[in-house]
Amino acid sequence: MKRRLFLQNIGATAIGFSFLHSAMAGQLAASAGAVGRVVVVGGGMAGTSVAKYLRFWGGAGMDVTLVEPNASYISNIFSNMVLTGERTLSQLTFNYSTLKSKYGVKVQNSSVTSIDPVGKKVKLSSGTTLSYDRLVLAPGIDFEALPLSGTTANKAKIVHAWKAGTQTTSLKNQINAMSKSDTFILTIPPSPFRCPPGPYERACVVADHLKRTKGGGKVIILDANPKIQAAVQNFTTAFNSTHKGIITYVPNATISAINADTMSVVTSAGTFKGKVINAIPIHKAGNLITQSGIGLNNSANGKWASVDVLSYASTNPSLAGIHILGDSSSTTQPKAGHIANAEAKVCADAIINIFKGGTILQVPMTNSSCFIPITKTTVSWLTAVYRYDPATKTMIPAGNGVTESNGANSENYEDMFKWFKNLMADTFS
Ligand SMILES: Cc1cc2nc3c(=O)[nH]c(=O)nc-3n(C[C@H](O)[C@H](O)[C@H](O)COP(=O)(O)OP(=O)(O)OC[C@H]3O[C@@H](n4cnc5c(N)ncnc54)[C@H](O)[C@@H]3O)c2cc1C
Repeated sequence: MKRRLFLQNIGATAIGFSFLHSAMAGQLAASAGAVGRVVVVGGGMAGTSVAKYLRFWGGAGMDVTLVEPNASYISNIFSNMVLTGERTLSQLTFNYSTLKSKYGVKVQNSSVTSIDPVGKKVKLSSGTTLSYDRLVLAPGIDFEALPLSGTTANKAKIVHAWKAGTQTTSLKNQINAMSKSDTFILTIPPSPFRCPPGPYERACVVADHLKRTKGGGKVIILDANPKIQAAVQNFTTAFNSTHKGIITYVPNATISAINADTMSVVTSAGTFKGKVINAIPIHKAGNLITQSGIGLNNSANGKWASVDVLSYASTNPSLAGIHILGDSSSTTQPKAGHIANAEAKVCADAIINIFKGGTILQVPMTNSSCFIPITKTTVSWLTAVYRYDPATKTMIPAGNGVTESNGANSENYEDMFKWFKNLMADTFS
């Protein structure tokens, strides 16, 4: 009952920053009545959340195995602040020990290499084969190749840093080596991409950092889209006022070539040169999904998995029992960590009810929040609550729709750290 109420009310707060807080955390429900084997692939925001909540809400009869190649997870959220030295990667690193010890999730440090949807089995790179009753795929994103030329050494400098890790460190070092007469070029791919406000946020924090630490510099945003994709009001103010003279925003800039030897980017809006080129490539669902052809949605260019948002089950009838969530799925919700955590709860609730022979909740709600640093001390935010619309069978913005803060301020800065702490605790502990 608590689970149902939570799923119905998750978005009820005014600005939707809520999560299931530790007040509801506790011992596993010993006799929740659901019995079944679930393999979850991908220990990121979506996969870890679903594995935890399958056991937390489903009880000890749920046999849950999480497959993830890495021993720990580095959060992309806040990774823009690693570039400017306000956070370290180790502060953004989370492990799976609580998932194992408190919730009884089995963790296999390996990659899934193939899926047999008929035999209901997955193969791991370790050689192990796992059988499942339900399979949840949450492998995040992968990228299309960039039109990149140059020597191998020069090409290695063109990073996206859109999956936090070694590329984040490389980009941070390149920014630190800039002087006030240098230019930072950021390229943004066509939507959809992970974290719609993320690239514009990066431009702001890099501009602020250059101004503060170098006494100046230039940031050129080459956006393949016709306009800013999120938080338009706050980013327009940031580009035209807060970071005036540093940030230049160029829309409709489709990239045709990047030359790493001359450090130039050729686009439909002209050719641009920079000291640092931070090129974010076109996104697609995690390779596991595209390689396996898991119910790809042609309306989304065949790059994302099509799902029923009541349970995140694949809409491909030959893939019965397979659910896909987080950034890999094609929904009307943003590709974001907060929404991945919310989707995971809807999916966990649905799977538990399927195992119990009950009905799937027909009115799921999800919510998403994003705090957006504009400078080192000021932050804006963007939030939305989504509800299921039976007519379109999609999640649509509820209430006030997608809302952004009225400017950026230092109070939001404090709230941002609380929000992150809660989100990561709700996912990893
Ligand atoms: C700079 C930046 C800032 C961001 N800021 C925010 C923010 O403020 N708020 C917000 O809500 N979101 C933010 N995001 C977005 C957020 O990070 C993603 O939307 C979120 O991580 C998606 O979760 P996911 O589980 O789908 O993918 P991920 O978190 O990427 O997890 C995918 C996991 O799957 C694993 N995997 C892949 N393939 C396999 C395989 N074959 N077998 C086993 N495991 C596999 C990977 O190792 C990985 O651990 C930001 C992103 C970036 C880049």
